[in-house]
Amino acid sequence: MGMPPAPPCILGGPVTFAFEPHPSPVPANEREARLVDPGFGRVFTDHMAILHWSEAEGWHDGRITQRVPLTMDPASSVLHYAQEIFEGLKAYRLEDGGLALFRPEANARRLQESARRLAMPELPEDLFLESVEQLVLAERDWMPTLEGGSLYLRPFMIASEAFLGVKPSAEYLYMVLASSVGAYWKGGARAVSLWVSHDYTRAAPGGTGAAKCGGNYATSLIAQQEAIRRGCDQVVFLDAAERRWIEELGGMNIFFVFDDGSIQTPPLTGTILPGITRDSILRLARDEGLVVREEPYAIEQWRADAASGRLVESFACGTAAVVTPIGRVAGPDYEFTIGSGATGQTTARFLDRLSAIQRGRIADPYGWLRRIG
Ligand SMILES: *Cc1c(COP(=O)(O)O)cnc(C)c1O
Repeated sequence: MGMPPAPPCILGGPVTFAFEPHPSPVPANEREARLVDPGFGRVFTDHMAILHWSEAEGWHDGRITQRVPLTMDPASSVLHYAQEIFEGLKAYRLEDGGLALFRPEANARRLQESARRLAMPELPEDLFLESVEQLVLAERDWMPTLEGGSLYLRPFMIASEAFLGVKPSAEYLYMVLASSVGAYWKGGARAVSLWVSHDYTRAAPGGTGAAKCGGNYATSLIAQQEAIRRGCDQVVFLDAAERRWIEELGGMNIFFVFDDGSIQTPPLTGTILPGITRDSILRLARDEGLVVREEPYAIEQWRADAASGRLVESFACGTAAVVTPIGRVAGPDYEFTIGSGATGQTTARFLDRLSAIQRGRIADPYGWLRRIG
């Protein structure tokens, strides 16, 4: 406010993201007020990370700077052809007071895979890690202290060349936002209801289902709207070819738990997003000695198994909510309840174990936590 910007200084670590402190950050009392009940994705911190890419210069001009509206040419290709990818991960406050990211290397690699699919430049893993770590260090005061709170990080990349021809952009912007979030489901992990979409599909073979791109979400919204209209919380998609095999929710993977103790999840055949939470649960389950199948599961089998009692639990999983129990499933002419309709034992155990590792309450034998600061 009338003050010249402070000269850039460096937060520590490799000199890639220059730190330009916000000239007028949100005052402490106002920040505390926003952190009382932050909800999800509404409370943003003072700063953001930004990095540019051009054909001539490659990755350059990295900064941690104040979060301000972007000025962009209305012809920027992302606004017309949706060349955009993103990631989602969380920084947690550990039991011992430290800060840690959960498996950020996996997010870095997935962003590279998404970039390849969308014909975008790959961001080197060390730049990804540095961008999120430096931003979290700058924003540590925005970490909520409430139970279940965390700092949600949203790295994303957009095509920024001003050109209406259809081709991969020659310029890109990579950015990271940080958002203070509470527990995803207010009042604890309530079992959700799912609407099975028989009309709309999310991803087809050869399409972008395995890439984390905004376009996948844009096409899922109408199905999610229908789910709400039908009195359900979330939509679950079937495969595009046979309209039979259960794939995933709009933004979460899905698991099935059987009465013999085995668990099953759809295989990664290219139409399903390879969730890091999904991968972590598979690891925990295998190390518990459970029988684990990554195999297709048909909607009619789900109905039959729920009715016979062979299927005892189902849950969805993803970074935002970690593990979400599924209580009821509905389609155009059917409806069924999973188990008792409430959170099952196996679902609760995975939620507890994963949350405990993420928050440093139990040992992390897999090296999933990356401490920062
Ligand atoms: C991000 C995402 C997931 C969950 O991935 P995590 O790495 O576990 O957060 C699942 N499905 C879709 C479609 C997603 O975009």
